[in-house]
Amino acid sequence: HPPFDVHAVRRDFPILQERVNGKQIVWFDNAATTQKPQAVIDRLAYFYAHENSNIHRAAHALAARATDAYEDARETVRRFLNASSTEEIIFVRGTTEAINLVAKSWGAKHIGPGDEIIVSHLEHHANIVPWQQLASEKGARLRVIPVDEDGQVLLGEYQKLLSDKTKIVAVTQVSNALGTVTPIKEIVELAHRAGAKALVDGAQSVSHMKVDVQALDADFLVFSGHKIFGPTGIGVVYGKRAILEDTPPWQGGGNMIADVTFERTVFQPPPAKFEAGTGNIADAVGLGAALEYVERIGIENIGRYEHALLEYATQHLRPIPGVRLVGTARDKASVLSFVLEGYSTEEVGKALNAEGIAVRTGHHCAQPILRRFGLETTVRPSLAFYNTCEEVDRFIAVIRRLAAARPTQARGR
Ligand code: PMP
Repeated sequence: HPPFDVHAVRRDFPILQERVNGKQIVWFDNAATTQKPQAVIDRLAYFYAHENSNIHRAAHALAARATDAYEDARETVRRFLNASSTEEIIFVRGTTEAINLVAKSWGAKHIGPGDEIIVSHLEHHANIVPWQQLASEKGARLRVIPVDEDGQVLLGEYQKLLSDKTKIVAVTQVSNALGTVTPIKEIVELAHRAGAKALVDGAQSVSHMKVDVQALDADFLVFSGHKIFGPTGIGVVYGKRAILEDTPPWQGGGNMIADVTFERTVFQPPPAKFEAGTGNIADAVGLGAALEYVERIGIENIGRYEHALLEYATQHLRPIPGVRLVGTARDKASVLSFVLEGYSTEEVGKALNAEGIAVRTGHHCAQPILRRFGLETTVRPSLAFYNTCEEVDRFIAVIRRLAAARPTQARGR
């Protein structure tokens, strides 16, 4: 790959020229959603202008074009994740739907009374609630891997939780709330040693690091298109072929059947078995374009650049008086989560917005991990490869100014 040129890649993202409150926008809300390169915007427009049709069913030219475009996108996802077959790639609406699919299909068949499901304290609500629902329906138990003061999972504690009751371990590869990169390969390996399956939540990892489902030996890996420069409303379940074959369909309807009578239905093999109804065809195609764009830049280039940017931002944020950074694990990606003494997180967010800087403030759909640190909300800037040191400087200047103007009783505490 050619050396990484941030100013060149920035030109690929038209929205980065937007002005907010008279200032050029700084998009530091990448963990919530990412911006879209022109290549993705153009691909969506091309699909609707030249290829739009429902897929698979009709025998006309546009149906063939739409089907080819959709199946090409599936092949791009397969290559991106290094899955062994496109039959292991299921299109869904996003990570949330992906985890619900696994919990409600695989989980309904394989989890019973007394069984245990393990998640970590870092999980997004999307990787807690479906398992909790499943556990309460089945009389199973949800167990939680604790984290240390830096926000890293405690592997020793995890090992103590594992037993022959454990049926599945569902853990994120990168925490959306703290940025912690978990030792996911070890987590999967330990799950397998206990005879359990492992689901990896890749929502926050695939856009920052090389994710290879075979190297991880993940049974399931899920992610959302919109967090990797693709459209909203499209996401992926990767599942090992043998496991998908042993998993009943989730929703029933068109596309997922081989034959239907009023007496019985024969299902298609995976992935069609899990894609009932008309799917999000155009956005799957758009996701394919987004992954091809990432491949052109090179995920290793992206990871290396972002790592340096995160270090730079951390070095400047951490020493500011009154700043408390949460999530200080050695291995982190993209996210800085903090509170500023003397201000609510909303006040910090508003002050940043006044300068054109977009950050998330709130609980980030991960209340348990913030409460672990005694907090209900944090300010969360999250970086992508199109961000720059100059943008970090603009952000730091606002936080410094707020810190210097803290109400006196909050100072020096
Ligand atoms: N898991 C993680 C780690 C996330 O960051 C998110 C999105 N914030 C989700 C799951 C849910 O993704 P979506 O809202 O796209 O379904």
